[in-house]
Amino acid sequence: MIDIATLDPETTIVVATGNAHKLSEIEAILGETPALHDQRFVALGELGTFDDPEENGADFFENALIKARAALDETGLSIAVADDSGLCVDALDGAPGIMSARWAGEHGNDEANNDKLLAELADVPEGQRGAHFHSTVVLVVRDEDGEEVLRGDGDVAGSIAFERKGTNGFGYDPLFKVAELDGRRMAELEPVEKNALSHRFHALQDLSQKL
Ligand code: IMP
Repeated sequence: MIDIATLDPETTIVVATGNAHKLSEIEAILGETPALHDQRFVALGELGTFDDPEENGADFFENALIKARAALDETGLSIAVADDSGLCVDALDGAPGIMSARWAGEHGNDEANNDKLLAELADVPEGQRGAHFHSTVVLVVRDEDGEEVLRGDGDVAGSIAFERKGTNGFGYDPLFKVAELDGRRMAELEPVEKNALSHRFHALQDLSQKL
């Protein structure tokens, strides 16, 4: 655990996640930009145990903003990064979208979510099962004058398979066929392969170009 009092608010970015993997993905891309070169990235989960804010925004951007602002409120730090992501299925008018994590009811129950996805698409033929993952990343900087918000957006295109395959990744990865890889499942990719084409990667690149 890191003691917040030892951190310099000018040179610390709190990443609103408890997930060490997401922290390293975010740090690897944003930390390379000249504007953030001197910043130290710390995960919110390294600073204490905080209740998750209610993600009641209308879209990915609003939910990412809710997470970033909650991290600033909880830590008293000045700069935060947060992302919100999900799966959008064409035949379901973009669902589950911002509901991706809790689509089948219980937050983060990947098995139940994938079962629901297969059931919802049971009658949808090959060729009409298009989908994409989307990520919106926000960087929020607070000072005495208020707040500055920058955002980045990214997608990865694919389609939904009829059965699961692969054991890597998380969430809907076993059912997501990556278009640019001739339908290989996201869950069949090594982490480095996924990180090089993921929606989060594209969103972080988009954000880093605006810094
Ligand atoms: P979060 O924004 O990272 O909390 O993601 C919300 C939900 O979207 C996750 O619980 C997953 O169901 C889904 N999701 C987001 N990114 C991915 C991914 O890279 N692979 C599979 N599922 C994902």
